[in-house]
Amino acid sequence: MLKTFLLAASVFALAAGPISAQTRAAAPPHASAAARGVAKFQIGRFQLFALSDGTLPLDVDPLLKGAPKAEIDALLDREFQGRTVETSINAYLVDTGDRQILVDAGAGDLFGAFGGKLMQSLAAAGYSAGDVDDILVTHIHTDHSGGLTRGGRIAYPNATVHAGAADEAFFLDGARDHGHAAEARHIEEAMKTVEPYRRVGRLATFRGATQLFPGVSARPAPGHTPGHAVYRIESEGQSLEFWGDLIHVGAVQMPRPEITIAFDVDQDAARAERARLFSAAGRDRTLVAAAHLNFPGVGRVRPEGQGYVWVPAPHRYHD
Ligand SMILES: [Zn+2]
Repeated sequence: MLKTFLLAASVFALAAGPISAQTRAAAPPHASAAARGVAKFQIGRFQLFALSDGTLPLDVDPLLKGAPKAEIDALLDREFQGRTVETSINAYLVDTGDRQILVDAGAGDLFGAFGGKLMQSLAAAGYSAGDVDDILVTHIHTDHSGGLTRGGRIAYPNATVHAGAADEAFFLDGARDHGHAAEARHIEEAMKTVEPYRRVGRLATFRGATQLFPGVSARPAPGHTPGHAVYRIESEGQSLEFWGDLIHVGAVQMPRPEITIAFDVDQDAARAERARLFSAAGRDRTLVAAAHLNFPGVGRVRPEGQGYVWVPAPHRYHD
């Protein structure tokens, strides 16, 4: 019996080898949109494309703060995950018909093999870098603004970058020794990726709730960074909010939203913003897009117990 099983298994392995190799070779023309890092949604008359920049294996155990390790491990295990979470880096393109608006720009060259695929995902969605009119960065951290330049050059030749004024102050104009050692690298990288746009007058910042374009608005949600913002799109009665880094590890921070992550510049403010926005989204059934929830990261939060359950939204794969 065991022998038969082993024989069958080895035959399967032999058969599987060449077949999967053929499939890989033939993949590009037949690959699904999801395999190319694209998922499409419709918000009223706006088309929304979730675009993958890559995934980053993250050892979350030393990063998450506010609960004993055993509890964090149990929450991860409940979602069949270990301590190393394959973390999505999601960006989004909104085609309003009038403008092509990118929300976040991925890591560009700065995360090695774990990022920098946004441009290829954008092409798979049918757009080029030159098509992008505006880039709304949820905050100036490398996995969101790193892709603004490639090889040291502006990657989006026609785009204006929009960001919270407090992030411009913190990352581009702040003191280099302001007591956030972990942010020193982000500051250095921001000077290479955001500053080139500012130098040519293509960095626009906002304070407070701001209408950017018809159907597109920004609202500060400080904590993760001082200028961290959420963006909202609205068309024909439908809407979606881009949450940026309001949440990182879904398996842990959905059921226990009070748990924070080491990347939050201000842990208390980040926790408070998550509580406030989760509560409103749970009540209003808001459709949201989150940069680090599993690709495509589009869905809703449903209140349950002391926390929330993430409910992914169906994407659309037809014209
Ligand atoms: Zn991030």
